[in-house]
Amino acid sequence: MFQGLSEKLQETFKRLRGKGKLTEDDVNEAMREVRMALLEADVNFKVVKDFVAKVKERAIGSEVLESLSPGQQVIKIVNEEMVALMGGVSSKINISSKPPTVILLAGLQGAGKTTHGAKLANMLKKQGKHPLLVACDIYRPAAIKQLQVLGEQIKVPVFSLGTEKPVKIAQESIRQANSQGQDVVIIDTAGRLHINEELMGELRDIKSAVKPQEILLVVDAMTGQDAVNVAESFHRELGIDGVILTKLDGDTRGGAALSVKAVTGCPIKFAGIGEKMDAIEPFYPERMASRILGMGDVLTLIEKAQSAFDEKKAKEMEQKLRKQEFTLDDFLDQMQQLKKMGPLSSILEMIPGMGKQLKDVQINEKDMAHVEAIIHSMTSEERRKPVIIKESRKKRIAKGSGTSIQEVGRLLKQFEQMQKMMKQLTNNPGMGMLGGGKG
Ligand code: GDP
Repeated sequence: MFQGLSEKLQETFKRLRGKGKLTEDDVNEAMREVRMALLEADVNFKVVKDFVAKVKERAIGSEVLESLSPGQQVIKIVNEEMVALMGGVSSKINISSKPPTVILLAGLQGAGKTTHGAKLANMLKKQGKHPLLVACDIYRPAAIKQLQVLGEQIKVPVFSLGTEKPVKIAQESIRQANSQGQDVVIIDTAGRLHINEELMGELRDIKSAVKPQEILLVVDAMTGQDAVNVAESFHRELGIDGVILTKLDGDTRGGAALSVKAVTGCPIKFAGIGEKMDAIEPFYPERMASRILGMGDVLTLIEKAQSAFDEKKAKEMEQKLRKQEFTLDDFLDQMQQLKKMGPLSSILEMIPGMGKQLKDVQINEKDMAHVEAIIHSMTSEERRKPVIIKESRKKRIAKGSGTSIQEVGRLLKQFEQMQKMMKQLTNNPGMGMLGGGKG
């Protein structure tokens, strides 16, 4: 996610931090680079202009330039302004005090509407709600089937009346929810390739018929500024309460994430980060800014851990992280647990300072069996204190596990890096880059 932008900004900041004292010229130069990086990331040009002007205005004050760590102060300002740009706080969905809460999903074809209707239902179900999915996309025959298949997968009922009029389907679905005790109704509507009057007319009709508490627009992050333009049009024509930004997992640039709120005034409420049913996250501007600036996203990491592990395990992990009592046995255990949280690369991205180091820490999921064999060939003392493993022990372990001395060495090195990373994580939660000032 956002690698391109993230790398460029981190380069700029590294240079800033490297200087003991900053002049106005240094700030101007850095801001030129930030501006370029944002434009290349396809952030709306007006948003970039305002953003850079704001940061510059705050950064050139004497308080910053004459402070002990001006570079870090500037980074802090960029972080704060970036959080503000994305709306500041995280926005929740409006749950009606009188059930059912009606959520209307709108968007162009292929944006991920149907998938996210189901993901949303799955998420709400986990929070104890009883959702009903409603198939109002009557033009694409496969859409109804697709929703039914997903509904079955997540065990959420799907309401459909075939190719009946969408307004009627929506109205009937609410009647059904009322009679069967479903407290959230999620309506999947038809998309089109482009915005047109027919589409907007239909959405307006459904809106006035069912009066949704929440109209969420689903847009594809990978389309960058197009996504922002689509959001602007939908907001003008229909009025939306928030955006679900999908396919963020494939978005290396970040232009839509950074522009939607500033351009449309509508917050991004959820982010889609993969095709699976659990690949949805509430959108937290603060965490997103942290990720973009390479400060990691420890909070999301911990939440993911909590949902992937049972509570006892999660507590154990937290304890071990805090006390930095992390042995090779835990390493093995963690690697297996981490695998449950999704692709390792996306997990490691959330750890402060890891974006760059990732290139050196290659945890190949296919090597798991070897890792397991190597650790199993160690004595329990060796697992607790791997520093005692010198050449002769390495040789014995390699032989015992049917691997090579190089592989054993590599694993020990990875473990050492993992310990370092854990230390960073516990010492500077969320502030990997601001703390310490080391490049
Ligand atoms: P709709 O036409 O708006 O209903 O779009 P769909 O829900 O059918 O999604 C279109 C395609 O995008 C499908 O192949 C989905 O699996 C894929 N997709 C949806 N959301 C995401 C996401 O967050 N990440 C990724 N990688 N793929 C997604």
